Amino acid sequence: MRGTIVIDEDRCKGCELCTFVCPKHLLGVAETFTPRGYHPARLFDPRGDCTGCLLCAVICPDVAITVYRSIPDKRENFTTQQVTPENPAPIGIKTNVQPPRQTNERTLER
Ligand code: SF4
Ligand code: SF4
Repeated sequence: MRGTIVIDEDRCKGCELCTFVCPKHLLGVAETFTPRGYHPARLFDPRGDCTGCLLCAVICPDVAITVYRSIPDKRENFTTQQVTPENPAPIGIKTNVQPPRQTNERTLER
C-alpha cells in the first residue's frame, strides 16, 4: 500500500517525536524554519516507501500530520484518500469480513 503525509509547518514545533516512530525511517528535520522559529519535520521518501501507517500522525502532539493512502482498484489504478486514527480504512474499501448470518429461529424449532 502506498502512502504519503503532509506536515502542517504552522503547527509543527519540531519536537521530532514523529522521526522516532516511523518504521521506514522516512522522517527527518528540515534545515528551514517555521514562522514560529522551529525546524519542522519533513518527509524524505524518494522511493515512495511510506505505507500510510498513521504512526507519525498518532504520535504528533500538535496534530500537524495528515496521512493519505493510495488504494489500487482491480485495474491497479490508485485512488488516494485521507486516513485518520479514527477512520484508518479509507471510505469505500471492502473487507473480507462478512456480517454474522441471521439465524432463522423458526427453522431451528422444527
Ligand atoms: S505514515 Fe507511517 S511510513 Fe509514512 S511517514 Fe508516517 S510513520 Fe512513516
Ligand atoms: S511530532 Fe508533530 S510537532 Fe513533533 S516534529 Fe513531528 S510533525 Fe512536528
